[in-house]
Amino acid sequence: MKIIMLGAPGAGKGTQAKRIAECYGIPHISTGDIFRANIKNGTELGKKAKEYMDKGLLVPDELTCDLVVDRISQDDAAKGYVLDGFPRTIPQAEALTNALKKRGEAVDFAIDIEVPDENIIGRMSGRRACLKCGATYHVEFAPPKEEGVCDVCGDKLVLRDDDKPETVANRLKVYHDQTQPLIDYYTAAGCLKEVDGTLDIDVVFDKIREILGA
Ligand code: ADP
Ligand code: ADP
Ligand code: ZN
Repeated sequence: MKIIMLGAPGAGKGTQAKRIAECYGIPHISTGDIFRANIKNGTELGKKAKEYMDKGLLVPDELTCDLVVDRISQDDAAKGYVLDGFPRTIPQAEALTNALKKRGEAVDFAIDIEVPDENIIGRMSGRRACLKCGATYHVEFAPPKEEGVCDVCGDKLVLRDDDKPETVANRLKVYHDQTQPLIDYYTAAGCLKEVDGTLDIDVVFDKIREILGA
């Protein structure tokens, strides 16, 4: 099953993608997590990506598409995957469609998690991230067992630099300009499914399971 997650920054893509991956036994592939791991390890890619991420801009397609196409070609992705944060532009969607077409495949579900802009700032300012294992929390809606500590790996939780309100406003603009057009793209491809992302985390997941039919 090949699934992509669409939605504004903070809509809940990562939260739901992790649950889908666990439930269906497929890898969760997050381009944001891949970039953050590269930044942490001080790689060339990380250095380049950081310049864009800190400003709330998208990392250029040239640095992003090949990375994802390589990743979905690995053995653990043979039965499917859930892509979180990719594609984010029309050229990225086209690169994915073409890579899949070469193997006679296509995206099965594009799940768009809808959350109005008004809710996003609160989602992001309350988000806490573990940069070691990629787990995400929310101080109010999904708190860790112990404040400031990751339930999964015990590392300390942080407010991501790009979750500060000034950067979030930029990211929302970039989302509307560059990523929202993908809703039409995947509607035309016949695989778009919309979910109300303002509902509770568990309810959103129930709706996604209904869509995926299992
Ligand atoms: P995205 O990957 O789309 O940027 P996340 O999954 O990281 O979004 O969620 C953003 C923040 O909102 C996190 O702090 C997360 O815990 C919280 N969150 C996710 N889904 C919901 C929801 N349905 N209701 C309330 N808070 C949520
Ligand atoms: P969020 O969880 O809030 O949606 P991500 O973790 O997915 O954020 O992405 C963080 C940042 O990484 C983005 O603002 C962007 O700079 C960069 N990024 C992630 N995925 C992509 C992509 N597919 N194309 C370009 N930039 C990306
Ligand atoms: Zn962790």
